[in-house]
Amino acid sequence: MTQPTFIQVAVPSPLRQTFDYLAPPGSDVKQIKPGTRVQVPFGNRRMVGVIVGSSGTTDVPKDRIKPADKLLDELPLLDRDLVALYQWSADYYQYPLGQALQTSLPVQIRKGQPAAEHRRRMLRLTAAGKALDPAALKRAPRQLQVMQFLRDSAPMTTSQLGAAFETPLSGCLKGLAEKGLIEEFLADEEMPGARKSLYGEDAPLVLNKEQQFALSAIRKESGGFAAFLLEGITGSGKTEVYLQAIADSLESGKQVLVLVPEISLTPQTVRRFARRFNREIAVFHSALNDGERFNAWLRARNGKADIIIGTRSAIFTPLARPGLIIVDEEHDASYKQQDGFRYSGRDLAIFRARQLDIPVILGTATPSLESLHNALSGRYHYLQLTERAGNASHPDYRMLDLRGETITEGFAESLFSMMTSHLERGNQVLVFLNRRGFAPILLCRACGWIATCDRCDTSYTLHRHPHSLSCHHCESGRPVPVACPECGGKELAAMGMGTEKTEQTLRDMYPDIPVYRIDRDSTRTRDGLQNVLDKVDSGAPCILVGTQMLSKGHHFPNVTLVAVLDADAGLFSADFRGQEHMGQLLTQVAGRAGRGDTGGEVVIQTYNSTHPTLQSLVNDGYGPFARKLLDERRLGNLPPFNYMAVIRAEASTRQAPELFLRDIRQAAGEPAMGLSILGPMPASMEKRGGLFRMLMIVEASKRSAVQQYLARAITLMENHPQGRKLRWSVDVDPLDFI
Ligand code: ADP
Ligand code: ZN
Ligand code: ZN
Repeated sequence: MTQPTFIQVAVPSPLRQTFDYLAPPGSDVKQIKPGTRVQVPFGNRRMVGVIVGSSGTTDVPKDRIKPADKLLDELPLLDRDLVALYQWSADYYQYPLGQALQTSLPVQIRKGQPAAEHRRRMLRLTAAGKALDPAALKRAPRQLQVMQFLRDSAPMTTSQLGAAFETPLSGCLKGLAEKGLIEEFLADEEMPGARKSLYGEDAPLVLNKEQQFALSAIRKESGGFAAFLLEGITGSGKTEVYLQAIADSLESGKQVLVLVPEISLTPQTVRRFARRFNREIAVFHSALNDGERFNAWLRARNGKADIIIGTRSAIFTPLARPGLIIVDEEHDASYKQQDGFRYSGRDLAIFRARQLDIPVILGTATPSLESLHNALSGRYHYLQLTERAGNASHPDYRMLDLRGETITEGFAESLFSMMTSHLERGNQVLVFLNRRGFAPILLCRACGWIATCDRCDTSYTLHRHPHSLSCHHCESGRPVPVACPECGGKELAAMGMGTEKTEQTLRDMYPDIPVYRIDRDSTRTRDGLQNVLDKVDSGAPCILVGTQMLSKGHHFPNVTLVAVLDADAGLFSADFRGQEHMGQLLTQVAGRAGRGDTGGEVVIQTYNSTHPTLQSLVNDGYGPFARKLLDERRLGNLPPFNYMAVIRAEASTRQAPELFLRDIRQAAGEPAMGLSILGPMPASMEKRGGLFRMLMIVEASKRSAVQQYLARAITLMENHPQGRKLRWSVDVDPLDFI
């Protein structure tokens, strides 16, 4: 073997390769470890790269090879495992390694700053705060909540506190500081009390039989890699099982990485973790500033943080002593990045657990068909929780056939009477409609003109607050016309329903009952979501109307009736995952009902009550429904029974992407045995954001066949004369063909 002479460096460049350099002056290439950052000349600039290996040979001509400027770390910043994780993901998802690093490392790391923590400002109660009588804050419920939370948990930074409440707390904290109840201090290396005892304010619960069985199964495999699918209906106590598995890990001095779909929707989970454990939690959430993210990353890396909670990109967090990975709501689509580096955080969690030789738990009430298949085929341990923990009982499902019913603004008469009776009993009602805005269509009654987005193949959605037309695909908007631009007609009608209109309808129907809307528009404002959730948690009768945001995370113990206004929207999707997603969404929404002692009712409005898929879901539940879909996937030879990738191209003319992909397909030659190529064909929404979009689907029963074809196609696309002019991308294990 030749002696290493050159270092291989990943720099943030779109080229799918690493770059060779000589070691910086004065350093010995044999001493340089992968994972060390280095500053290198690149073109006529200086860049920060990460060393990923060394080699005795190079393709770069002798007179062109340059020395790197200098090493930026004394010890490798990324350990060998993390470098390997990045390399594997860049290969598997066919994305340039340097850019993969670029998109997921904290800014300071990318800029080459020293890997030393900034000192953190922490919050704690003052003596007066500790002695405070809660009644004194009766008129400031948020302040009281924060006080109680600070009392129950280890000291934390403002932003960690923000994560636990997921709302800007600056006003609230200022108020508390002015009253002398809380104070800031600069964190020392070790936080006081952090190592005292494992448990904080909340003690572990006594597990029921199923939970006990699940925990024992996890314990049995705790010595090495094992993957678990923990399938448990909402409220069955999955989180309690996580918490006790986490306790084992923490007790043996290990760290735990927890992935969640969206932290803003699950502040309760963060709070629950903080109350259970007297350990430092690093939360990666969207409200962190660069410095806080950097600190959290370093504290995970040097082992000061014991529990790391974050969304999909947290899978790339460095861990000093990893012990367990948990992926909560593993079915959630947000685990798959939908642009750029299109990795799946869930799938990488499996890879990383195997690499680190530790267990990984995938938890959900509605497993993805991929995970279910792995569980049924024995690749994952399959653990099920079928009973609700505590006293809560199962909801009753009922289909409400709309044919022949009198319908007012989307509500059947009989649905109104059910709602009324639940509200009269002092309960809360949740109305689900997965369409925000006032109405999806604005139509001219005289000539039939429909307001459509110029940039996309879709109609504008009419919004009332603020009054405007808005495209939900490219976010462009325009004022609402007073007359039809085609015929001048004055009668423009809002067709169909969105959540704004439904909210209006309910306000008119129930003038004495508060109606709260929860969707992306209503919660955009400061405090929006948390304020509504607080009001709902107070337990008084109310009606909640909202989109899929209602299906995530939050528990509504006093909701006893869930109404799904329009189940048909999801039934006829062209996408092969359409029915799976519909089943997950409806089940998750339904799972919000009756978490308290009262059992819930779920009513599903449909014009297709005999549709076999819907029947299976409603009558048999998600489990049998999902198995049926899995059989259909097997027959159709679709994932998870084969492997798939999509090559997309888009440009401002219709022809360009099509010709481009045709060239690539032709140049790539006949597909090998067992590989099939479909397309080029238009994406399911051909025009979006002003660009025409075409795609090609690559399918095979072997991953390697897909990978080989992609590698060939990418080389061809990089070298095609159009390759730099139009946009193209590769999506491995795609979620959709949009
Ligand atoms: P999931 O994560 O499956 O939705 P949780 O763990 O949040 O379920 O549990 C639902 C509710 O039941 C929570 O309020 C939790 O405190 C309670 N709970 C969970 N396990 C038990 C148990 N073994 N005994 C009593 N209550 C429990
Ligand atoms: Zn008209
Ligand atoms: Zn648009």
